[in-house]
Amino acid sequence: MTTKATKSKKSPAKKTATAPDGGKAFRFDVGDSKESMKTSILNHLRYTLARHEENATQDEWWTATCYAVRDRLLDRFMKTQAVHHKQKVRRAYYLSLEYLMGRLLINNLHNAGLFEQTRDALTELGQDFNEVADEEADMGLGNGGLGRLAACFLDSLATLDLPAVGYGIHYEFGLFRQKFRDGYQVELPDNWMDKGCPWEVMRPNFAQEVKLYGRVEHQMDDKGVFKPKWVDTKTVEGVPFDISIVGYGGETVNFLRLWGARSSDEFDLDTFNQGGYTEAVHEKAFSETITKVLYPNDSTESGKELRLVQQYFFVSCSLRDIIRRFEANHSDWSEFADYNALQLNDTHPAIAIPELMRLLIDEYALEWDAAWEITRGVCNYTNHTLLPEALEKWSVPLFEKVLPRHLEIIYEINSRFLQGEVEAKWPGDDAKKSELSIIEEGNPKMVRMAYLSVVGSTKVNGVAALHTELLKKNLFATFHELYPNKLINMTNGITPRRWLLACNPGLSELITKEVGDGWPKHLDELQAISKLADNAAFQKKFMDIKRANKQAFADFVLEDSGTEISPDAIFDVQIKRLHEYKRQHLNLLHILTLYRRLLNDPDYEMNPRVFIFGAKAAPGYALAKNIIRAINKVAEKVNNDSRINGKIKIVFPQNYRITMAEKMIPAADLSEQISTAGKEASGTGNMKLALNGALTIGTLDGANVEIGEEVGDENIFIFGNTVEQVEAIKSKGYNPYDYYNSNWELKAVIDWLRSDYFTPGEHDAFAPLCSSLLEGGDPFLCLADYADYVRVQEDVDKAFSDKKRWAKMAIMNTARVGKFSSDRTIGQYAEQIWHLKPVQVEA
Ligand SMILES: *Cc1c(COP(=O)(O)O)cnc(C)c1O
Repeated sequence: MTTKATKSKKSPAKKTATAPDGGKAFRFDVGDSKESMKTSILNHLRYTLARHEENATQDEWWTATCYAVRDRLLDRFMKTQAVHHKQKVRRAYYLSLEYLMGRLLINNLHNAGLFEQTRDALTELGQDFNEVADEEADMGLGNGGLGRLAACFLDSLATLDLPAVGYGIHYEFGLFRQKFRDGYQVELPDNWMDKGCPWEVMRPNFAQEVKLYGRVEHQMDDKGVFKPKWVDTKTVEGVPFDISIVGYGGETVNFLRLWGARSSDEFDLDTFNQGGYTEAVHEKAFSETITKVLYPNDSTESGKELRLVQQYFFVSCSLRDIIRRFEANHSDWSEFADYNALQLNDTHPAIAIPELMRLLIDEYALEWDAAWEITRGVCNYTNHTLLPEALEKWSVPLFEKVLPRHLEIIYEINSRFLQGEVEAKWPGDDAKKSELSIIEEGNPKMVRMAYLSVVGSTKVNGVAALHTELLKKNLFATFHELYPNKLINMTNGITPRRWLLACNPGLSELITKEVGDGWPKHLDELQAISKLADNAAFQKKFMDIKRANKQAFADFVLEDSGTEISPDAIFDVQIKRLHEYKRQHLNLLHILTLYRRLLNDPDYEMNPRVFIFGAKAAPGYALAKNIIRAINKVAEKVNNDSRINGKIKIVFPQNYRITMAEKMIPAADLSEQISTAGKEASGTGNMKLALNGALTIGTLDGANVEIGEEVGDENIFIFGNTVEQVEAIKSKGYNPYDYYNSNWELKAVIDWLRSDYFTPGEHDAFAPLCSSLLEGGDPFLCLADYADYVRVQEDVDKAFSDKKRWAKMAIMNTARVGKFSSDRTIGQYAEQIWHLKPVQVEA
């Protein structure tokens, strides 16, 4: 990707590209033709960027193109919103601390039906379309699957013509940029708005004020009614930045509203008037810190005050915005739940529950019971994890400091819940009360955000069938007894527009030729290619496209790192956040096993394999970082070992992100989904890879189970202990040494990793990793699954040798994963949770 503006412009624009009237042109031509796009792009170059086309840089062409596209989206956006407003529609509000959007240009063009003409317009203006599109920085305002799910959902909501708004935070810095130095991960700031963000519209007129800190005064009003007052607060202003979300087909344009924090005038002036100029400026800086950076922790909660402030800030802004929109059309609070449904993406926005209570009671003077009926009537909560360490808890003292009034409300919710519902169900049972209490006893006491979310929601959902069953059995078992209809399943999905149509044009074109062009909106239509799975001519076309995608990725790797990889090898791909439960280290043990076999047995037969990794580790997660370094250091050795004739290569490009995933997924043969059974809630990377014709090697975990059901046992490689077996092993007292001592090959590779073979002269480089596998008790059972994993990898190798069989399996994967379109998921949310109907916005 070109990052410097100076080296951007490769060739001067064609002379003929000058606007017809020599530069004045028609500012209001927002037609969809190629000529209209050309005029618009040139106008923006001139009137938005103040540049002559002769010396505009490539990133300026990108900016001008985005503005030209945005004009068209905004027209449809305003039309959509006018229809929604006029019809007083019910809306869904998706609240998420993360949106992993990636790049927007190419997807917006496809969805808006502007792709060909814009590509041709740029070409005729003398620009290389792909290079211009490559100027865009990823909008990486999320960590991984949870944030990407939110982005896929926005795409599906608009595509299904559902009135919806996404709310989140306008982080100045998204997920860190990753570099490797001597194999170590180094984190650098992600300055994604470097070149500006032409997609967003800042709307200061819709700013909201949020209060924080302070204390609660308990007083009576003039009628003798108890009226707590939250005083001595700090005020921060939230300014919305709106991003248009265009559905496929382009009629409905919803929006994502991201809040940026600014100091409020009031807040500054107080200090300022007391003569404290520098203090005022300091306070201003504090306000703006709130939305400065995304917390880069994945799956583990961090408990930082600023993060609680972030959560409250965006939730409060969003609720006030929702209420403002409601009040524009309605005056009766009893109607609030008829027009609004809220979805909480994990517990991160769970503070919405006490905040909505506070707004209704303290600011709109509703009674508790009425407020509670409304709050519980509109909120719904999605759980994303079974890992206990990932469940958010906030200490009561911290809560009291930042949100004292909310703490009171949470105590009241808890007390009414325990004395009311729990007492009614289990009279006199104090054990049940302390088990279900939103407040966990201890020093300090903690607020259990997941319990608050369950109590305060209409529906609670898991994200894959297995995950939901495990929630019912374990994490929320007692809640499930209390509320038997609250917990439901909504298996995750991915948008086929980004994850096939846009990222794999070769395969998309082939599919369209065979089944027509309806599949991006009706992914089940891919079923039709299963009848061609045995057809030699179709197999050849399908696998030629795979090979071309592999070649393109090989070209990228060569340019990126100088490593040569062959497109004839098996491309074995594991791309996801680095986490012990995802077991990249199990993959590494397999690589070491093959490497040893090749070195010790000159006749060892295997297809050449390229192991491809993409992963960021949370900066504070030492063991995950040690695994990254181990992969990098093993790669250095293996890739340069002439004894193995290039049979194994390991590539680990830096800075895995959406744009990288879009290159890797179309090139993958094998999809590694090898989490410890019972730990991965769903996964969505597994769906993207299967859709693009990669075969899964996986455990019976998360959505792998459902992928297996869809593609059939003969088209997936399942291995390892099941959830029940994992439980049984653990309850017997798991000892990794039992496996280490009884499997000489396993022992050999772990000992090898412990030696300084991969880090000559540097001892104990991978001691943290090796000790976690042995002395540390191997909490994620790598050793228990190792032998079966290696065995099934041999099946993979055999299957790959049979080109016809592999091609058939790959085609069957693409053909049969239509279920995993996020359109199906969102359809289920709309029907079963939000009770939301499509609203047609005529083109
Ligand atoms: C899909 C995706 C994820 C989630 O991957 P899993 O394998 O489901 O954990 C994470 N990061 C990026 C960039 C993705 O595109």
